[in-house]
Amino acid sequence: MNVLVINCGSSSLKYQLIDSVSERVLAKGLCERIGIEGSRIVYQPAGGEKRTTESPMPTHKQAIQLVLDSLVNPEDGVIQSLDEVGAVGHRVVHGGEKYASSVLLTDEVLEAVEECNDLAPLHNPANLIGIRACQELMPDTPMVGVFDTAFHQTMPQKAFMYGLPYEYYEKYKIRKYGFHGTSHSFVSKRTAQFLGRDIKDMKIIVCHLGNGASISAVDKGASIDTTMGMTPLEGLVMGTRSGDLDPSIIEFLMHKENLDIEGAMKVLNKESGVYGLSGLSSDFRDLETAAENGNERAILARAVFNYRAAKFIGSYIAAMNGVDAIVFTAGLGENDSLVRKDICSYFGYMGIALDDEANKVRGEEKVISTADSKIPVLVIPTNEELAIARETMEIVSDK
Ligand code: ADP
Repeated sequence: MNVLVINCGSSSLKYQLIDSVSERVLAKGLCERIGIEGSRIVYQPAGGEKRTTESPMPTHKQAIQLVLDSLVNPEDGVIQSLDEVGAVGHRVVHGGEKYASSVLLTDEVLEAVEECNDLAPLHNPANLIGIRACQELMPDTPMVGVFDTAFHQTMPQKAFMYGLPYEYYEKYKIRKYGFHGTSHSFVSKRTAQFLGRDIKDMKIIVCHLGNGASISAVDKGASIDTTMGMTPLEGLVMGTRSGDLDPSIIEFLMHKENLDIEGAMKVLNKESGVYGLSGLSSDFRDLETAAENGNERAILARAVFNYRAAKFIGSYIAAMNGVDAIVFTAGLGENDSLVRKDICSYFGYMGIALDDEANKVRGEEKVISTADSKIPVLVIPTNEELAIARETMEIVSDK
């Protein structure tokens, strides 16, 4: 069966068609600038040329229609008809406390997801628009929601509660939810498999370091803590997000810079992180080049990022009372050997040592620690689309 995986944002939509048996990607691409002038679709069949077509997409429905047309297009399409799409897996950012696993998207589920809109106002409404548009175009195809928050629903209450009046949790469900769950789940499972061990006997720390970044503590296969919070702003210093800070800074900044709350949140979400610290770029490749040329702020931004990551890893070793593997994934985690080396240098006292040659790896599954390192350190590339396709298949076959 082929599964269409859709990740729908407010003005963009990423898609992949995956053969669930061979797990091969048959075609992939994205629609950009939906609802904005100059919209275009990028489509790439497996082994074929990437093609970009400018085409008006006033709504997500038109965007999805263009995706479906591309898949069956007689020239470079990969299927004969849409009957060959057995199910659609949708990435949904926030499932609140209601969804601890993926679910068939019924009207009732969609209503419940809509209730989570408050918790993820930037993401959930866009996800829902994508789901509804898809349902209109493929009314007989089962759709599954795979939530970014679901994997972290196993966190104990002591990990997910904030030190706020309890009634705010009861009234508004203010608590830590965590994100990137599909990736943390996929990578932790794969780590155990790769090491030939049973995940039920393992304490794994997964470092998902991309533009958005989070670390999680996975004990016996279950997430017991993670760095992102009620929203993705908490935790690590990221590409443009501040991560943890003293909440009083917000009020201070609003007074000093004459900002309203939207303005202050924009600073924390879009103008901070390594971008804000360096004043240069949110991309670590740019920062590395600048650092090599002696740019002090680029050096500082990387150091702050790595130090924060190391502190969280240390705290998760405490949370699990040990660790059996530390794993790096996502854009930076998979590719940036300097980030990995610097972060791991904080754990020399524990007998963790990287093998410089192995640590040169990019985007491949590999143990990057030395043979006598007390704890193995690995690179395991994440694959959120494949994880969504697998979850979708599981739900659809159970039906
Ligand atoms: P997201 O999905 O959160 O947008 P990614 O996981 O794609 O982010 O990671 C993007 C980041 O990964 C980039 O900003 C860049 O800093 C880093 N990155 C990607 N490729 C490389 C590379 N080859 N070398 C070093 N860093 C890289």
